[in-house]
Amino acid sequence: MSTAPNTFDGSCLCGAVRYEVSGTPDLFFLCHCSRCRKGTGSAHASNMFIPDGKLVWLSGEDMVTTFAVEGAQHARAFCSRCGSPVPIVRPGGRVKLPAGSLDTNAGMRPLAHIWTGSRADWDDHLEDVTAFGERPG
Ligand SMILES: [Zn+2]
Ligand SMILES: [Zn+2]
Repeated sequence: MSTAPNTFDGSCLCGAVRYEVSGTPDLFFLCHCSRCRKGTGSAHASNMFIPDGKLVWLSGEDMVTTFAVEGAQHARAFCSRCGSPVPIVRPGGRVKLPAGSLDTNAGMRPLAHIWTGSRADWDDHLEDVTAFGERPG
């Protein structure tokens, strides 16, 4: 089904944290839940999930901070300098990989929007919003 590469390289915004994840993603969700909106500051998180994925920190492992929501399954990892989301290994060995952090191609399209019942009031038909190739003006 997938032509996805089996090695994914990525980094955070400041460049301190670099990683490589290997494995085959089985899910790619755009999650609009309130926790993902808070955690990204955007309309949704964009996460690939890689069962039995192998996560290797190429640099900056000591900069990686994790946060788990108490009493929930929601957890995230991020660079403690720039705040960028980075991959995290979840229970069962599934790697959650924020697709926006990739420096290589994802190689697959998202499979679904999820938790759309929780989406922001401005998150509706965004594909219809006027588009510019770069910042206008
Ligand atoms: Zn960083
Ligand atoms: Zn979510």
